[in-house]
Amino acid sequence: MGESCLDSCDISMKVFESIFERSLCGQPLNQSEVAALLATPPGKPLEDLFAVARAFRERSFGNHVFIYGFIYFSTYCQNYCNFCLYRQCNQSAPRYRKPIEDILDVAKALEDDGAHLLDLTMGEDRFYTQNDGERLLDLVARVREAVAVPLMISPGVINAELLRATAEQGLDWYACYQETFNKRLFSRLRKGQDFHSRLKAKVQAMQAGFLLEEGLLVGVGESSADIGAAIEAMRNLQASQVRAMTFRPQRGTPMANWQAPDSLDELRLIATLRLCFPDKLIPASLDVDGLDGLRARLNAGANVVTSVIPPRHGLAGVSRARVDIEDSQRTVSSVTPVIKGLGLKIAPILTYQQWIKKEKRRFFRQDQTDFRSAQLG
Ligand code: SF4
Repeated sequence: MGESCLDSCDISMKVFESIFERSLCGQPLNQSEVAALLATPPGKPLEDLFAVARAFRERSFGNHVFIYGFIYFSTYCQNYCNFCLYRQCNQSAPRYRKPIEDILDVAKALEDDGAHLLDLTMGEDRFYTQNDGERLLDLVARVREAVAVPLMISPGVINAELLRATAEQGLDWYACYQETFNKRLFSRLRKGQDFHSRLKAKVQAMQAGFLLEEGLLVGVGESSADIGAAIEAMRNLQASQVRAMTFRPQRGTPMANWQAPDSLDELRLIATLRLCFPDKLIPASLDVDGLDGLRARLNAGANVVTSVIPPRHGLAGVSRARVDIEDSQRTVSSVTPVIKGLGLKIAPILTYQQWIKKEKRRFFRQDQTDFRSAQLG
């Protein structure tokens, strides 16, 4: 990429130029630099930030975009996260456990449509994790047998043995979002849960051979210093996919009347993540603003369209449980014109599989004692 992206985006502010130059040289940004990016004013400075983020994406991924299918197979949860529609006592949440036949149908449909990965998600549902997780393992084995695409598991916090057994079924990714690395904010958001146990599950997942997706929630009272610290923590953790999602108030929850943030801060964070993690995967989730929000997220430097959900299976999203699903707006064919309209293209399946292989080789070649001790200490 050389100097070209900086030349073309015509950044006027010296401070940004120096941040971009440091990122280009692969130097980690410090907290005040992250804070400066997160405070980028609208208008030309923000457009320039997005242009640089896109240039960083292009350098690592060319014009390729990946697509993830989302299968929320159980919406039951034992936890009480204050921000979440699916917290245990919320009567407003759609509750279901999908029969295995439905799950397999959806998995095959998503694979046929060209999804690069299927994300198997559940609340922390003891139905699946009790008895050494035999139901979860059976489900995972059946899906593994039915489709060839890479799989991600998002089961919440599970123990090391179950993580290992799940990884042995041939899954590639474990997704588990801290949402914030500010421990006080964490305890307000994830009521009754332990900050370190959640972190430890991720380290154990990586020890079992998983790549890790980490995630932050935007607009829940975090400061830019919190985000700076979170970026550093995600770097130490060596997450291979880093997600930012704007909080949407959920009916029936303690945060139902929280002032709904707009999505601009999420876009700034996506661009900032791209500068901090140029060669990692960054989602553009359909689960915040539906299909309408896809263009802006890709424009800010994201390179994975997530939360693709086929209609007519009664499946829900997480943040926007129903938006755009039954009218087929969260399908591969609906997102394709948006991707093409930005001069991007859906990557061949093989390209994604090769990326995973390369990431695993890079990751597991390293001396892993560093990240394990860093995060458990
Ligand atoms: S965020 Fe996850 S763990 Fe928390 S209540 Fe919702 S489904 Fe459960």
